[in-house]
Amino acid sequence: MSEKKHMAVAIDGPSGAGKSTISRILAKELGFVYVDTGALYRAVGYYMLSNNIDPKDADTVVAALTDLTLEMRYVGGEQQVLVNGADVGGYIRTPEVSMAASAVSALPPVRQFLLDTQRRIAATENVIMDGRDIGTVVLPQAELKIFLTATAEDRAQRRFAELQEKGIATTFEEVLADMQKRDYDDSHRAAAPLKQADDARLVDTTGFTLEQSVATLKGLVEEMMA
Ligand code: C5P
Repeated sequence: MSEKKHMAVAIDGPSGAGKSTISRILAKELGFVYVDTGALYRAVGYYMLSNNIDPKDADTVVAALTDLTLEMRYVGGEQQVLVNGADVGGYIRTPEVSMAASAVSALPPVRQFLLDTQRRIAATENVIMDGRDIGTVVLPQAELKIFLTATAEDRAQRRFAELQEKGIATTFEEVLADMQKRDYDDSHRAAAPLKQADDARLVDTTGFTLEQSVATLKGLVEEMMA
């Protein structure tokens, strides 16, 4: 029996470029499953913080992975990430967890730990998967690869508005500084650094409204499917 081939759209890029918002909308329109891989790294970062483990302490973080069971499930089309059986969705979007996620994501054993989870879902569903290394490492065979970016100021402005909406106290300057640090760390780490795949389409959303960004990506998806 031949296995059914599933389609994959890989969307990579720095934080705040609009990857998750745009991917969620596109996935709904296409009837694909949206996979937010950043949530997996956030869940690992959150687990370390809640067990008083310094996310930069590589040996302790890697040792702690043996006690961590991570699962992804979809409820009403929305992704949930379970850490040892508990849905952590409400806790992983804080600036502290963002920095912890970035720190643990530099460790090759953490990346390996999450690789199967990401590939397994792409083997069973049509996916739009967003992250930093989807087109380069996780799904190098993806039918369409997009590298989504925007200026740091533009991205920080969007992230600041999101955090304000959630009632998380911060300033624009703090968000911009965190974002620049994460961008630097994500792009300069040795393991699966953030970089545009050779065959990825570059989309710069600086100054775009959400509608314009969605329309641009939709155009690329339609081109791919034609
Ligand atoms: O996308 P999001 O901001 O939620 O990701 C949180 C952090 O997880 C990123 O800053 C990055 O360090 C890490 N990450 C990664 N590879 C991915 C997705 C996220 O290293 N595929």
